[in-house]
Amino acid sequence: MDVILLGTGSPIPSPNRAGPATLVRAGGVNLLTDCGRGVVMRLAAVGVAPAAISAVLLTHMHSDHITDLNDIITSHWVMNPAPVPLKVFGPKGAKALVEATLAMLAFDVKYRIDHHADLNAGPNVETTELEPGDSFSVGDCAISAHQTDHSPVFPTLGYRIEQGGGVVALAGDTVPCPGLDELCKGADIYVQTVIRDDLVRRVPMQRLKDILDYHSTVEQAAQTAQRAGVRTLMMTHYVPNLMPGQEEQWREIARPHFTGEIVLGDDLTSSSVAAK
Ligand SMILES: [Zn+2]
Ligand SMILES: [Zn+2]
Repeated sequence: MDVILLGTGSPIPSPNRAGPATLVRAGGVNLLTDCGRGVVMRLAAVGVAPAAISAVLLTHMHSDHITDLNDIITSHWVMNPAPVPLKVFGPKGAKALVEATLAMLAFDVKYRIDHHADLNAGPNVETTELEPGDSFSVGDCAISAHQTDHSPVFPTLGYRIEQGGGVVALAGDTVPCPGLDELCKGADIYVQTVIRDDLVRRVPMQRLKDILDYHSTVEQAAQTAQRAGVRTLMMTHYVPNLMPGQEEQWREIARPHFTGEIVLGDDLTSSSVAAK
């Protein structure tokens, strides 16, 4: 299994970081978790066409995590030679989100159907709403949904993907909680969105300080990884943006709390789990 941080940014615009999105490639399957700003460009960078997305897994409906879902839906539809359904999994509310996105795309869908003789229907999106504890499979990947805590944002989910004896845990925005521990237990790779509370506290803007209470700090991500016996912690969704040359500084903050491997960096940073 390969885990690729397609976008490592956050809502804060960055010239170099796309919005949150992570790709897991396993056994011929491409699982896309979240669809932040620029996701289709980053997929192109790793040679994955939108039509090759096997399923989209949404952690929650904050705009930074879903803003380019519309681009995934359109590109998956128009670039697919066959009318293959796009599978979208997410927490309760995902169906309404997809329906509203399709409504927003209605003009474009009509233009393309009118113009292309071989297109006679709009995007076919199969949306499944999940509860914590639900499990399903895509190809030979076994996936389970787990409760996370991004309160007052509710509901939110993390995804555990098991394939070939390897385990990848993908948490969205969350503070440490029992569901997160269960999600990460014994994972080879744990991907966590993080903030630097020491830096955020210094910004004289209450709206930014507000985010401190519903994200994992770098230390907390490391502590979760240690508690769960994780092999590799991948940090992403850096708030504030991780600046060039700062990787070691961020790693040193996590290091006292976690004895495993710590991975962070630019968009397209990746890590792998060998088949066991
Ligand atoms: Zn969020
Ligand atoms: Zn976020």
